[in-house]
Amino acid sequence: MTAPELDRPDLYIDGEWAAPADGTAHEVIEAATGETLATAALANADDIDRAVAAASRALNGPWASLTPAERARLLTAFAAELNARRKETAALVSRENGMPLALSRLVNGSAPAFIAQYYAGLAESLDEETRPSPTGGDTVVRREPVGVVAAVTPWDYPQSLAIMKIAPALAAGCTVVLKPPPETALDAFVLADAAAAAGLPAGVLNVVPGGREAGARLVEHPDVDKVAFTGSTAAGRAIGEVAGRLLRPVTLELGGKSVSLVAEDADLELFASKLLDVSLPNNGQTCHAATRILAPASRYREVVDVVTETVAGLTVGDPLDRATQVGPLVSAVQRERVLSHIARGTDYAKLTAGGGAPDRPGWFVEPTVFADVDNSSSIAQEEIFGPVLCVIPYRGEDEAIALANDSEYGLGGVVWSDDAEHGLALARRIRTGTVGVNHYELHINAPFGGVKASGLGRELGPEGIAPYLVAKSIYRR
Ligand code: NAD
Repeated sequence: MTAPELDRPDLYIDGEWAAPADGTAHEVIEAATGETLATAALANADDIDRAVAAASRALNGPWASLTPAERARLLTAFAAELNARRKETAALVSRENGMPLALSRLVNGSAPAFIAQYYAGLAESLDEETRPSPTGGDTVVRREPVGVVAAVTPWDYPQSLAIMKIAPALAAGCTVVLKPPPETALDAFVLADAAAAAGLPAGVLNVVPGGREAGARLVEHPDVDKVAFTGSTAAGRAIGEVAGRLLRPVTLELGGKSVSLVAEDADLELFASKLLDVSLPNNGQTCHAATRILAPASRYREVVDVVTETVAGLTVGDPLDRATQVGPLVSAVQRERVLSHIARGTDYAKLTAGGGAPDRPGWFVEPTVFADVDNSSSIAQEEIFGPVLCVIPYRGEDEAIALANDSEYGLGGVVWSDDAEHGLALARRIRTGTVGVNHYELHINAPFGGVKASGLGRELGPEGIAPYLVAKSIYRR
């Protein structure tokens, strides 16, 4: 059954709700049922042009004359409006992309307001500074907004990933055109609702969901000054090429294939209790999911049994049901992709849990475990983006580290050890942007991002505002 009250017929451009240029409405499908949830406006190239023009006007208009403290006040109001909508937003995202509600309440419900508030706090510290010159006089060092930001986001953590770009950009004094994907177009408009209610000036935030073509148009638009992208490595490479040609600064948060390194001295009870959160969050649709489990040969069978038992015991169901631990995937296409990875894996590894699609409506895939996996095989090297884990044996810690680093990617990672110093020593040796010891949790105050094919640049923490600022030195005598 569709929910017409959720329909979103208009885009949000220049502080107004505007019909899309080609007038077509896109059907957003509910992941758990496979049925139409509601319809949403999608942008084409003309809409993108209108949105960029609005963001350019706002950049050079009243927004530019606000002090950092005034921007911080507006961001705080924006945070409050997001917070007021948190429950509805969380449930809406769960229906769009299949994320279990408890997780959605955290990452799509509370986190966006928290992140907006955090960057409001950092905006206050952006005043000019004066440095004495060794040859006499001094230099005023300003950190100016880089300009109009093109923010292109994916469907897996749609609200957090959007606000991780919007909040530092606005705090820095930039204006933003947000281009979310069609799968999660509905929840993206909640950001516009909150911006309007908070009184953000027209054009400061424009919300124009659309497909790849709309994204490509935005990224190469002549009036865009900076690109902030989260998504697949393939799209990131294409966007990076465009940005390189245009000499346009770009942040790329891309894919991953992170390890969960079980040391000889690991507490397997703790490891099992956190397996869902660390290795299968959001039904495996998580860039930093630690899906390559490295187990010492001496405890290999023990680890395989723990992983198999834990995964086989997970409750699969409707993401809105509080008991659900694993929901459906975002789309039929994504389910087919994941099932084809599993089919290839069964040719050379041992399936110990799951492996199929349950007989029910929606885009479900059974949580799946492969044992006796070679690290060079496709299921260990390619990002599957579904509930599929591999358990890989290692002999000695040097081999564990070599296997951990034998990946195109370097985004997340976890080390399990009963000895905190030992865990830290192993974590230091993994070539990755982020890594946890006996847990894995993003921290608002710490930079998040990848190395190698997992991307360029960082979001969150004070590091997360730097890409939206450009230094200017005014030499004075
Ligand atoms: P995707 O790359 O297909 O799409 C992401 C966004 O980019 C969408 O809005 C899409 O419309 C747009 N897009 C695609 N091609 C484009 C192009 N050539 N030019 C401009 N825009 C383009 O990714 P997806 O399938 O939506 O998301 C899943 C991927 O995102 C996974 O690989 C996952 O690991 C990655 N991801 C990374 C992080 C991170 O922080 N590193 C976080 C979440 C997801």
